[in-house]
Amino acid sequence: MQYSEMSKEELLTLQAELNQQYAEAKAKGLNLDMSRGKPSATQLNVSLGLLDAINASSDLKAENGTDCRNYGVLDGIPEAKKLMADMMGTTPEHIIVYGNASLNIMYDQVSRAYTHGILGNTPWGRLDKVKFLCPVPGYDRHFAITEHFGIEMINIPMSESGPDMDMVEQYVNNDETVKGIWCVPKYSNPQGFTYSDETVKRFANLKPAAKDFRIFWDNAYVIHHLYDDKQDEILDIISECEKAGNPDMVFEFASTSKVSFPGSGIAALASSEANLADIKKSLTIQTIGYDKLNQLRHVRYFKDINGLKEHMRKHAEQMRPKFEAVLEVLNTELGGLGIGSWYAPRGGYFISFDAMEGCAKEIVAKCKEAGVKLTNAGATFPYGKDPKDSNIRIAPSFPTPEEMAQAADLFVLCVKLVSVEKLLAK
Ligand code: PMP
Repeated sequence: MQYSEMSKEELLTLQAELNQQYAEAKAKGLNLDMSRGKPSATQLNVSLGLLDAINASSDLKAENGTDCRNYGVLDGIPEAKKLMADMMGTTPEHIIVYGNASLNIMYDQVSRAYTHGILGNTPWGRLDKVKFLCPVPGYDRHFAITEHFGIEMINIPMSESGPDMDMVEQYVNNDETVKGIWCVPKYSNPQGFTYSDETVKRFANLKPAAKDFRIFWDNAYVIHHLYDDKQDEILDIISECEKAGNPDMVFEFASTSKVSFPGSGIAALASSEANLADIKKSLTIQTIGYDKLNQLRHVRYFKDINGLKEHMRKHAEQMRPKFEAVLEVLNTELGGLGIGSWYAPRGGYFISFDAMEGCAKEIVAKCKEAGVKLTNAGATFPYGKDPKDSNIRIAPSFPTPEEMAQAADLFVLCVKLVSVEKLLAK
């Protein structure tokens, strides 16, 4: 029976039962963390061989003879470019391989646009107003970057096929203060949605009012499938933009953070020839070159895209039971009650849960009080403000499947309790 159809008496009886269950759950003294999308320790073991991929007796020269122990090579050794290009679905001439993480590249792109401008355009820092579109719910660290630079953020609703493209076109094609949009196009953080072909094509065919409008295409989960037989595919935004006559409109990012080791992977930017040349003018002031031994280590270990895919299957084996444990509990305990909605993703790192309006903060607080830490409610929106106080991001990767089931039990209990309280307060 839907909670909203219950009488006041029924709700009060239910509330008393749930309070009793909550007291019992609290007494268990759980201490679980579902707040960040971190791999578990056993999952990190999958990549330990990377540390043996090169050693003191290895040939430490790249394919083209570059001695990886020494200075030099601004944009990455050729085999690392090829590996990252294959992973991102583009070609090596579009790639710069950077250091250990992609968030840093994204920050750098915004920062450079702010201080020096993009391809000769006025630096954003000298303009009265700069705006970014933010598909919501989205990734809090993206929003933190644009907030840090005082860029005004505009919420764009997401659906299963991607951001609301009518709204995106309306803003981008008419407002020259709109300079960018944050996108996680595949297995999005947090919903796990993959942009449809139509969405990608509509992105590529935008007619921006601002010459320096850029799509920030964060393909963080490009090879992070959960299933062998159910894999999302996405069009290559770089070639779609080329076909549409907008070759310079996109900056694409990816890393091996959740392939090898978070914080010790390799990261890359993919973009047009003109953008790469513009970027390199600054990059050569910033660094003599990134960590080529780590690039070499990654290529020697994974060998090629097939090696990467095979490796991702091992990650998926560990992730799948955790996702399924959460989904099972959500379906059994909340299905048909009308107090929440969710989606079973085919990849990525998160499950996104939408509670009844005005309940998310209270649910997260109740979980915390009973020992289960979730990402702060609101974090999936710019400025940490979810206008409906509804969205909660669940990150199942870190706990064990058993812990995950325990945490999910507590979560659904808190959802029920807070929803009943909300309905009684109406
Ligand atoms: N982008 C997205 C969408 C992410 O979810 C994450 C990690 N949670 C990152 C980027 C961070 O990537 P990196 O470690 O390469 O900085």
